[in-house]
Amino acid sequence: THFGYSEVELDEKQGLVDDVFHKVARRYDIMNDLMSAGLHRLWKDEFAAKVRARREGFRHLDVAGGTGDIAFRIAKASPADASIVVLDINGDMLDVGRDRANERGLADKLEFVQANAESLPFPDAHFDAYTIAFGIRNVPRIEVALAEAFRVLKPGGRFLCLEFSQVAVPGLDKIYEAYSFNVIPAIGKLVAGDSEPYRYLVESIRRFPRAEEFERMIRRAGFRRTGFERLTGGVVAIHSGWKL
Ligand code: SAM
Repeated sequence: THFGYSEVELDEKQGLVDDVFHKVARRYDIMNDLMSAGLHRLWKDEFAAKVRARREGFRHLDVAGGTGDIAFRIAKASPADASIVVLDINGDMLDVGRDRANERGLADKLEFVQANAESLPFPDAHFDAYTIAFGIRNVPRIEVALAEAFRVLKPGGRFLCLEFSQVAVPGLDKIYEAYSFNVIPAIGKLVAGDSEPYRYLVESIRRFPRAEEFERMIRRAGFRRTGFERLTGGVVAIHSGWKL
């Protein structure tokens, strides 16, 4: 069992997540700007900068890559012969990502693959780095996704995860709670006409393991020299590890 969920519940969870992102795909980017007041751009800049894609022939995998925000940043900073895979379970999100890649002239370096983070369609030891941003929280079997990340990385490969975390600043936690339970669903209702998907997202943030526990899970998957860094008082955290 995973956090006390049965297999059926886990499959239901994936169905729910898929519904959310089918509904929001075309409005996803504007929603992020509104709900995070633009902060997600700074978090993503800082996160993507940790992937040093300077080596020739760099192979990168961005899982739950959605509309491409992380992959585009990495593509811009990488050599001409780098190859970057954007993987997502949801074809609608990838469609938006493809359109955006064409607009930005980045399509040459990018490949869009529809697949599940729990079962990656790549051979062992294939990638130099793996990123997952605001994605692992949505994957029902987190341990399975981490094991897959470990498998597809080359020895010496880097694992990086950007995810919501726990606000560690007294006072800010109350404000954050009020904001996420009231303002986020309200914006969802206003812009997407539906607050339910956003209630799910807020709930999933609350249920996600604490940073210390998530680091242990990353270690259990086999990663070493693991660590995490909190941004914006712990609203989000960047977790990292190496396959040695
Ligand atoms: N990484 C992008 C970003 O930071 O803007 C998108 C994040 S979005 C909040 C979460 C994404 O996870 C969605 O595109 C969703 O389709 C994807 N996702 C959910 N479950 C997944 C799974 N099991 N395997 C792969 N992707 C999944």
